[in-house]
Amino acid sequence: METQNIANWSNLNLSDAMMKVIEDAGYKTPSNVQSQTIPFAMEGLDVLVSSQTGSGKTASFVIPTVERFKDKNGTYILALAPTREIAQQTGAVFESFGKPFGLKTVVCIGGANINEEKAALAGSPHIIVATPGRLCDHLERGNVWLDFIQCLIFDEADRMLEMGFSKQIDMITEQIPKQRQTLMLSATFAPAVEKLAKKAMNNPKQVIIEKTKESAPKIEQSLFWIREDQKQHELARLLKHEKGTVFVFVKAKERAYQVWRALEHKGFRDVTYIHSDLPQDQRELAVSEFKSGKYRIIVATDVMGRGIDVDDVAHVVNYDVPRDAADYIHRIGRTGRRGLSGHASTFAIPGVDDRSIEAISKLRGVEAPSKDEPKKREARPAPRKPQDRPREQRAPRQNHNHQPKPALKDLPKQEVKPVQVAKVGLVGWIKSLFSKSKA
Ligand code: AMP
Repeated sequence: METQNIANWSNLNLSDAMMKVIEDAGYKTPSNVQSQTIPFAMEGLDVLVSSQTGSGKTASFVIPTVERFKDKNGTYILALAPTREIAQQTGAVFESFGKPFGLKTVVCIGGANINEEKAALAGSPHIIVATPGRLCDHLERGNVWLDFIQCLIFDEADRMLEMGFSKQIDMITEQIPKQRQTLMLSATFAPAVEKLAKKAMNNPKQVIIEKTKESAPKIEQSLFWIREDQKQHELARLLKHEKGTVFVFVKAKERAYQVWRALEHKGFRDVTYIHSDLPQDQRELAVSEFKSGKYRIIVATDVMGRGIDVDDVAHVVNYDVPRDAADYIHRIGRTGRRGLSGHASTFAIPGVDDRSIEAISKLRGVEAPSKDEPKKREARPAPRKPQDRPREQRAPRQNHNHQPKPALKDLPKQEVKPVQVAKVGLVGWIKSLFSKSKA
């Protein structure tokens, strides 16, 4: 995550006590989104922020809101988040910045015990973090009133709207006084986000964090035109060569299980999966075991994958092309974080995924290669040089049941075969996509 050298915390008008909490958190300098958002938010203004996960966006709204309301009693802050996992993460950040000031945070999410949440809400927390669906449940049951809220935060607004929470968001905002501060964060400013901002915000200041050369993730992106019945085989081949952690994205819940089963059959024992039909405790277990390194590979749907915050994913595989071009950006944002190099591979089916690939390319401002373009170089990305892979220099993750794999360079020559794809047309696409993302 990029931090700005010119800015430092002492320029942001924060109390000494807050400076101490920030120091304890180990945040040496504010990131771009923090140094631009905090001054507006501290003035109580509405702010519309376009920033990616990994930019430090959560603290950009947590720090100023805790600072503004830390000496007051009452439920003043409400943050809405698209998924349970994101709500839990945001709740944890509020907890760590709010607790030193005696602020109580309650997280309300589907799948958790509603009576325990009801009791926690009755204890007049200072901060509520919730998914829209669960908060509406509490409102309907009369477990919570929102008349005191003075600061409303929409985290990942684009995602909440994509997930169909528009009605619930309307129901919630109607119950909050109009005289309030509204902060909205979104990776993209899709028309639906702009519409919500118009409706819910008052003359917002805009903060747009453009990717700079330094902050741009170094993600090498590859596109494979293959048939559906080749995907499992190609995935297994790719996983055999990739030594780091891998995030495999699929388009539907049942696909997560299918792909996991297929990999199990092929002998991969270091794979787990997650989708929204799994019970909450199983999902949490899958995420924590992936984070701890027990499992090296996770298969996930978009909704679930979004909430998993892991910094050193080596490779993102789009087993299915995402429905929405914006999802592509969200998915590949799992890798190439914190200055590490990353890799994203996309499996596309000729005649099925052409339009989606075109849309992704348009979003990135580049032209997609034709799937009929003659193969100009191996579809399989070249083995990375050791200096490109700082991740590999770290202590290896513990993989239960998993033997460490030899590095590509250590494999006998004939094993380092290019992936045999039906039709390949990726050269210009990867190169321009990659260079655009750095521009
Ligand atoms: P976010 O974009 O909110 O998901 O934050 C990404 C990661 O950056 C989290 O692990 C934060 O703890 C961390 N972080 C946020 N702000 C800073 C900062 N100013 N300095 C260092 N790390 C930070």
